[in-house]
Amino acid sequence: MKGEFGSLWVWRDSRVKDRLSWYYSVATNSMPAKYLICKRVPVDPSVFSMDIDGLWKEYEHSLTRFLALWDDVRRGRVKISDMQVVEPNILDLLLAIVKGSLRACNFCRWQCRVDRLSGGKLGACKLEAESRVSTFFHHQGEEMVFRGSKGSGTIFFTSCNMRCAFCQNSDISTDRFNGSIATPYMIALMAYKLRLEGCHNINWVGGEPTIHLHSIVEAIREMSRFSIKRASGIGKDLFMIKPMNADMPYEYSMNASNAYHGDEFNAPQLWNSNFFMSREALNILRCIMDVWLPDLKFGSNRCALRLARTPWYWETVTSNIKQIHEWHEDTVIRHLIMPGHVECCTKPVLEWVAGNMPEVLINIMDQYRPENYCDPCSPNYDPAYRDMARFPSDEEIYEAYRYARSLNLNFEIITFEKRIS
Ligand code: SF4
Repeated sequence: MKGEFGSLWVWRDSRVKDRLSWYYSVATNSMPAKYLICKRVPVDPSVFSMDIDGLWKEYEHSLTRFLALWDDVRRGRVKISDMQVVEPNILDLLLAIVKGSLRACNFCRWQCRVDRLSGGKLGACKLEAESRVSTFFHHQGEEMVFRGSKGSGTIFFTSCNMRCAFCQNSDISTDRFNGSIATPYMIALMAYKLRLEGCHNINWVGGEPTIHLHSIVEAIREMSRFSIKRASGIGKDLFMIKPMNADMPYEYSMNASNAYHGDEFNAPQLWNSNFFMSREALNILRCIMDVWLPDLKFGSNRCALRLARTPWYWETVTSNIKQIHEWHEDTVIRHLIMPGHVECCTKPVLEWVAGNMPEVLINIMDQYRPENYCDPCSPNYDPAYRDMARFPSDEEIYEAYRYARSLNLNFEIITFEKRIS
């Protein structure tokens, strides 16, 4: 059951395994992903005629039932194979809520309240209702717990709700027409292909995935219906997603043993996000994400405003991270060391983690490189960011690590594994 991924040396360290135990169990298929548990949580069919407030009220009740069932499954008191799949279930309810929310979009902290279904006025993300995927592929650059031996099954969505001047994916994040339109079924097919090819998780990223919440919820509902019985029909549809597959022309072999819990398609869901989302979005994701990868970049609103044109950054992102911590969710925080920002960003971020969740895994990343508006060789270069047009110095990087060590943070294995292994 453990396989190559479960036998990786990184899992022998209890500081990692204990913090990511649910994710590990789903990745190795010994436990079902949360979305498979959702399929066993019934919802009263009459609620679908309610307005959005009524749907949220019903969700509060369903969430209590979901959490109780999840706890029973985790503790081995219940096997989902002994339970009936029900319809409508909590996934249908989540979908109704996100579709309803598109009429006055509140997915992220901007709270634009624009109607993304009828078009017209656009919000800060510049998106209407359709979602575009730039590429999907086996990502070999993520943390070992996510890339494992076969890669993290990454699906890159276009556009973003922040404006980081140094964005390393600016082609994707600033161009809302990048990539191709992908329906929820096509997105589910991408997840299916990646998982059967051995990817250890489905990595929702961009740009920013939050702004595509409706498409992702629907894609997860689609994949919740994938089973061994449907495999040949699904296989015939895979041609639809070929243009977005960045692994081409290399073809990984597909193996059902990578991807099933019982006879149901199983894949841990990884939320790889800037966490500048609304509390409503976070509540929706609670039932369907198995592991979280929040980015805590700026240590002050002043820096967030100047470097990412993002107001309310600190209070929004820290309160969202604090919330998933209070929910006892499996989490790895990322922090990028930026040149000239150790005192104003890195240290406050590390102090906040130490003060609020010192045991949580954190990756303190040293790979900042000047890109986009900060890259003097780019046509986009803006001299206003000339202080960001360099790599962080060795002294800055060592100071960040020294400080994290002095705070006793749980960062060394996750941060240094590429050098250790
Ligand atoms: S996702 Fe965020 S930025 Fe986009 S319309 Fe909704 S609230 Fe605005």
